[in-house]
Amino acid sequence: MQSGESPDDTKGQSGVIRAALLGLCPKCGAASLFEAPARVALTCSSCALDLGSLERGGRLAGVLTALLAIVLIGIAVGIETAFRPPLWLQAAFWAPVTVFVVIGALRLFKTVLLYANFEKHGSDTE
Ligand SMILES: [Zn+2]
Repeated sequence: MQSGESPDDTKGQSGVIRAALLGLCPKCGAASLFEAPARVALTCSSCALDLGSLERGGRLAGVLTALLAIVLIGIAVGIETAFRPPLWLQAAFWAPVTVFVVIGALRLFKTVLLYANFEKHGSDTE
């Protein structure tokens, strides 16, 4: 173990994924991180942590969404050429899949970003 590691580091990747799924505040652990499915709240409703200022770099979320769209379109075109499913089936499958994949990726991206900023800047945002 390196000297700079804190006990919290043992939470690792699964901790961030769990936090993204549940929307957990990096400071108090309350489920107050997101006010909408993929929008970070301005402040934690439980501990009043300034979440808005921790969301620096959030503009990259647009790039992430565009990249995801390209990947999903590529997969959809591949399925279309390989299996030729009926159009209604494609629409019924891809509408919810796209929504869940994009929201899930945005939540994970924003949570990782927010937790990284919280660890870097700590409590000086209060
Ligand atoms: Zn909090």
